[in-house]
Amino acid sequence: MDNCIFCKILANQLPSSRLYQDDLCTAFLDIRPVNPGHLLVIPNKHAASLAELDPDTGAQIFRVGQRMARALRGGSLQCEGVNLFVADGAAAGQEVFHVHLHVFPRFAGDAFRVTLGASLKNSPTKAELDSIAEGLRSRL
Ligand code: 5GP
Ligand code: ZN
Repeated sequence: MDNCIFCKILANQLPSSRLYQDDLCTAFLDIRPVNPGHLLVIPNKHAASLAELDPDTGAQIFRVGQRMARALRGGSLQCEGVNLFVADGAAAGQEVFHVHLHVFPRFAGDAFRVTLGASLKNSPTKAELDSIAEGLRSRL
């Protein structure tokens, strides 16, 4: 894809600090890390969204993310925990429209925060949960 930053990184038209590559995916460091060691795992073939991503590639991206998390935990960087995160769609916070799995180290007192909206503080009833589950099951 001509205007995709991550495709340019894959083609070595833009620099990156690469960590890993196989037939399906590539991992490199994020230039604006949440914490030192924050990395991204991306498909080698452009896919703007999860809907466009081949499921076997998605599985490999997670597998590599898991391996990267192990490397983060065992290394010299501050790492007491790890977050894996995908933003799919602008409303979910996606800014680069080439699928990417964020993998980043966490430690007590770091600055990363996930805040839940007010609606999630009110627990739904069992009937409401069952109704949502029924709707989703019918779409699987
Ligand atoms: P998103 O908000 O789409 O989930 O995350 C995009 C991520 O890509 C951000 O964390 C941002 O720092 C990272 N990013 C954006 N441009 C570049 C770049 O040119 N190189 C690298 N290595 N990371 C980038
Ligand atoms: Zn791309």
